[in-house]
Amino acid sequence: MRTKIVVGNWKMNNSVAESLELATAIAEKVGKGIHCCEVGIAPTFLALHEVGKLIEWSDILLTAQNCHYENDGAFTGEVSASMLAAVGCRYVILGHSERRQFFGDTSAIVNRKVKKALEQGLRVILCVGETLQERESGVTGSVITGQVVEGLDGVADISSLVIAYEPVWAIGTGKTATSAQAEEVHASIRATVAGLYGQTAADHLRIQYGGSVKGSNAAELFAMPNIDGGLIGGASLNADDFMAIVKAAC
Ligand code: PEP
Repeated sequence: MRTKIVVGNWKMNNSVAESLELATAIAEKVGKGIHCCEVGIAPTFLALHEVGKLIEWSDILLTAQNCHYENDGAFTGEVSASMLAAVGCRYVILGHSERRQFFGDTSAIVNRKVKKALEQGLRVILCVGETLQERESGVTGSVITGQVVEGLDGVADISSLVIAYEPVWAIGTGKTATSAQAEEVHASIRATVAGLYGQTAADHLRIQYGGSVKGSNAAELFAMPNIDGGLIGGASLNADDFMAIVKAAC
């Protein structure tokens, strides 16, 4: 039985003060002793340290939105995995489609980040997803398989890894993949991972769905056999909306 995982990706939203306010509201609701589901929040880098201290008492897992693939050095504007671990991050989101689309994160770069983050003791949420054009051209399967295989190249152990399937056309658009569409891709990701790491490792791997998940559609998505929770953008910016999704996972 896989424990579901719901993570809020706040993206470039919320000042430090606003992040602390939202984190406080979510921590009060999640509290301590939640066993049905793992819950994470990913504020802006600027707020990670303070939010981390604020939610330390709760079960919420501090999550970062990105990291660099080197430990330190002349990489202006970047943040390393070891820095994230030092402020208490437990997870880091890597390969988000916005990073791939706007910041040049190729699968090769994502792969270097994945290996560095795991080496530094962080858990990784590896995002994969096809564009609308790729879906309409019938290449969803090969695109997703390619992103999984390249993202995991040289990764020996996937026990600290989660994959998030996020169709690019469903992110922030209000369009959600149907539960059947999502389940089909999730099952194929699990099959790909079984081919790479064996069936037992694949059976243990959590695969989140992301793309306009809301309280109203979360339960149906999370009821699918291969959907193990969600990576939530817009709906994670409001504590009640986010908690409705967490409840759907429990
Ligand atoms: C995301 O960006 O990871 C995401 C799923 O966004 P939204 O929920 O807003 O579609």
